[in-house]
Amino acid sequence: MEKKVCKEHVEIALDIIVDETGEYPVLEELSTSGQVTCAFCDADATYVVSSKK
Ligand SMILES: [Zn+2]
Repeated sequence: MEKKVCKEHVEIALDIIVDETGEYPVLEELSTSGQVTCAFCDADATYVVSSKK
């Protein structure tokens, strides 16, 4: 699973994935900023939070 999020919603995304997978997720900066919208608001996504699998 993975979520693309803005800076404000990184922590929420981390919490959700920890909740769902029981593991701490991987946080990466998006290289294609400006093309993807945050999963929680209408801002540009700047990070990808993903489970390790
Ligand atoms: Zn957001």
